[in-house]
Amino acid sequence: MQPTRRDLGKLVAAAGAVTLFAPNVARAAAQKLIVVGGGPGGATLAKYAAKDSGGAIDVTLVEQNPLHTTCFFSNLYLGGFWDLDKLSHGYDAMRAHGVDVIHQRAKAVESGKVILADGSTLVADRVVVAPGIDFKFDLYDGYDEHVAATRIPHAYKAGPQTQLLKKQVEAMPEGGTFIICPPPNPFRCPPGPYERVSMVASIMKQKNPSGKILILDAKDKHSKMALFQEAWERHTPGMVEFVPAEFTGGGIASVDAKAMTVTTLDDETFEGDVINMIPAQKAGKVAIDSGLTGDGDWAPVDPVTMESTLVKGVHVLGDACANGDMPKSGFSANSQAKVVANQVRAAMGVGKAFPPRFRNTCWSLLAEDDGVKVGADYKSGKDKITKTEGFISQVGESADIRAATASEAVGWYEAISRDAWG
Ligand SMILES: Cc1cc2nc3c(=O)[nH]c(=O)nc-3n(C[C@H](O)[C@H](O)[C@H](O)COP(=O)(O)OP(=O)(O)OC[C@H]3O[C@@H](n4cnc5c(N)ncnc54)[C@H](O)[C@@H]3O)c2cc1C
Repeated sequence: MQPTRRDLGKLVAAAGAVTLFAPNVARAAAQKLIVVGGGPGGATLAKYAAKDSGGAIDVTLVEQNPLHTTCFFSNLYLGGFWDLDKLSHGYDAMRAHGVDVIHQRAKAVESGKVILADGSTLVADRVVVAPGIDFKFDLYDGYDEHVAATRIPHAYKAGPQTQLLKKQVEAMPEGGTFIICPPPNPFRCPPGPYERVSMVASIMKQKNPSGKILILDAKDKHSKMALFQEAWERHTPGMVEFVPAEFTGGGIASVDAKAMTVTTLDDETFEGDVINMIPAQKAGKVAIDSGLTGDGDWAPVDPVTMESTLVKGVHVLGDACANGDMPKSGFSANSQAKVVANQVRAAMGVGKAFPPRFRNTCWSLLAEDDGVKVGADYKSGKDKITKTEGFISQVGESADIRAATASEAVGWYEAISRDAWG
């Protein structure tokens, strides 16, 4: 019997199904992406690259620690407004999204390769590096990792030093002095040291109201300056003194952990009962050791793809990169990660690249139910990521607005934690 027109149609459809199916059967092995660093930048990137590629990209995350403790909200822990255990996030959910998680330190990255601390090498089509920051201890006489871990914490990587600082603040003698030394620009979380002052002030208001807080700054101006100064006058009048770069000579020259003193670049020495010395910063060691920072402290990147301008096939995001206008924050790292996930998928032939759009907001708690924020939108400019529009809380806002901002910050913490590690 001759096939009817309808049967022919079915045969053609079936043949089509076969030809459509054939390339899948013969499909090349999945592309390989390795992500170094499981903070808000690297974890978000790994998750989005895996979950949105439908198995076309094998994603491996190399993170040295089994848990990531967020710096964001660690100041709230210091102030007694947040529990320490709420700051730590594991990687089980990441595995459920199909990401292979390896808990090891990456020693170096090259185009198409990651060398691990145990000497083994992982091979990849593309690599993304998000290792956060390290400190320039060599700029200060008498200050190093050991002094920071035991006596004069920086607490600028959240964890045991944050706990040590909290204990020290709580044990301060009546009328004692807390010294904080904020670093020069650029550094992670521009409002971070000043939110910390507010949190320490709220503890001292309860336990040590005659105590003093001395800010020996490396800068003349800082983020949300008018808002912080208004809050210190309102909540703890006379407790906080700000010493700008004009009088410190641009920061700290040396630290004496036995005498509990710091000496400024202007050669003036100050004694504190507790000292929080926050050193100048640079990109995480693996970025520097891999030549991603060139002769500088931060890794230059293409403003669209965030691919290193120095090492091909390696993207750098979060605090470690020199991106242009975006501040070094968890919000920025998370926003950049979604852009890079899209760009990397497109570069690997999985989907289309969209024009990048970035966003950041930094909230700070000034006291209970008193929150402020600063933020902006960004786009890829010719040579750098550029700010388009910004906003900032206003001096003299009502208590209702401030309480709403404080609770918005809590909502953000929960959302970014789920987005990165959930
Ligand atoms: C006190 C304080 C308060 C802050 N508050 C806020 C806030 O309110 N809002 C906000 O948005 N941001 C805030 N920040 C800033 C924010 O924490 C950082 O900007 C953000 O964590 C940067 O993310 P990242 O992924 O680039 O790096 P990180 O968070 O530092 O993550 C890097 C990860 O890489 C891992 N790693 C590093 N090197 C290697 C290696 N060689 N091999 C394997 N793994 C490696 C590390 O273990 C770490 O898990 C605050 C920071 C501080 C210090």
